[in-house]
Amino acid sequence: MLPGVPAGIRRYRDPVTQRVRACIVGAGFSGIAAAIDLRRAGVTDLVIVDRGACVGGAWRDNTYPGCACDVQSRLYELEVAPWPEWTRRFAGQEEIRAYLESVVEIFGLEPAMRLGTEVTHAQWHEADDAWHVETTRGMIVADVLISACGGLTEPLYPDIPGAADFTGPTMHTARWDHGVDLRGKRVAVVGTGASAIQVIPAIAPDAEAVVVLQRTPPWVMPRRDRGIPAWYRSSLAALPPLQRSMRAVSSWAREVQLLSFTRQGVFRTMGERIARRHLEAQVSDPELRRKLTPGYAMGCKRILLSDDYYPALARDNVTVAPGLARVTSTGVVDNDGVEHAVDVIVWATGFRVLEPPLADRVVGRGGETLTEAFARNDMSAYKGTTVAGFPNLYILQGPNTGLGHSSVVLMSEAQIGYLVPAVASGLVMEVDATAQRRYVEDIDRRLASTVWQQGGCQSWYQNGHGRNVALWPGSTHAFARMMRSFDRGAYRTRHRKRGTHVPAA
Ligand code: NAP
Repeated sequence: MLPGVPAGIRRYRDPVTQRVRACIVGAGFSGIAAAIDLRRAGVTDLVIVDRGACVGGAWRDNTYPGCACDVQSRLYELEVAPWPEWTRRFAGQEEIRAYLESVVEIFGLEPAMRLGTEVTHAQWHEADDAWHVETTRGMIVADVLISACGGLTEPLYPDIPGAADFTGPTMHTARWDHGVDLRGKRVAVVGTGASAIQVIPAIAPDAEAVVVLQRTPPWVMPRRDRGIPAWYRSSLAALPPLQRSMRAVSSWAREVQLLSFTRQGVFRTMGERIARRHLEAQVSDPELRRKLTPGYAMGCKRILLSDDYYPALARDNVTVAPGLARVTSTGVVDNDGVEHAVDVIVWATGFRVLEPPLADRVVGRGGETLTEAFARNDMSAYKGTTVAGFPNLYILQGPNTGLGHSSVVLMSEAQIGYLVPAVASGLVMEVDATAQRRYVEDIDRRLASTVWQQGGCQSWYQNGHGRNVALWPGSTHAFARMMRSFDRGAYRTRHRKRGTHVPAA
């Protein structure tokens, strides 16, 4: 049995060395969905490579207590694999991971899986019009490389003075150490983002004390999670059109929230009022309320949903301290200079969004890595999916495909719908640099007036130059419309050199 692998899962294969039409890197939502749609389009000769020991992506790696999705389950399933069986309105991590396992099984993707296999280098070779993908378990030569690694993958540990001196256990929410028992311990939680607000209520009742190092208070809205009764689940299973229409209703309902980000005005004021009432209803201490009141426009950072975060902060054994100045061997010192003795530090400090997992390992036509291309072009891509200089490379959940209001699964699905005909064509496609630049200029212009740029906060959506590299400025429906057909006119297209094509299986 492999460590960290749920029972019954063992999918290592030897060797991986082979020639395929498509190599997908990442066995999370995007990678699995891409494999399903490519196979349906006749591209059956593909592999899915993942360094992890089982499928699931973010839902395999994030196992912290309380981990759940803050997007309704109905929108957190693939359109090709509707799931009437969700037991909660907002499914928990293990249920989502198990769903992805089921999808792999239902669609027979297991033979394509190359798990426990890490991509170490991938280079475009003009000689054979292919990506040469070096992995820890051999070489894969592929006509097309699809990055499905996600942007919220590599944990970010802030550079805090003294962090290395701490003598107790430390862990990041995205790499939870289940060997550390927090019961009866004094725990510091650094950060108050989407991960922190889930982990704090889950650990506070059993810990001796929790100190929350808050740099910026988040806007928190009611979550209203509830169980989905068995009769309702069986109705959805019996009536697939009902299931589809519930998904459509959920996605349109979410789009309304977009107005508060892009048009702001009355929509934002309404949202802020609901959030303030939520805080007032759950926290009676005026001093704590003051600490928890955000000083920037709602939506500028991700809006968080929780019914148990504020009550957890109001507990006698929980302290909200202003930011983290430094770490000592036995505790943390907040920005007021107060030292809090702790046994364990939990870093709930987010992800290295500006350093996508594969970027420094992928080398394009001119010998440039994707990291270098992103440094030059301010981390941008054509339609969030393709980059000039990188033929036949498709990035799922690439730059400017994130959302502040709905499910990124919808965005991945739209990207996959876009790339499938291109891959199935068997041609070599490289986006034109001018088309890419014009597209990005338009995105930046649309983003300029949004709350993400104007709301008075700093967020992980922005890079060091203040460019919003993460979010799509429109609705998921608008993105799907844009991605509905592959616009060959924006690409330099040519036939593969004779003798280098891998025939369809
Ligand atoms: P995050 O939103 O980036 O939050 C990181 C937190 O760490 C922030 O509160 C940040 O403070 C704080 N921080 C960073 N450096 C710090 C420092 N030096 N001192 C003190 N505090 C510091 O990370 P996350 O909570 O892991 O969430 C990241 C994203 O993952 C979310 O936005 C969401 O898209 C996704 N996510 C989704 C779910 C879900 O339910 N679907 C759950 C978890 C995460 P500042 O705010 O001041 O920067």
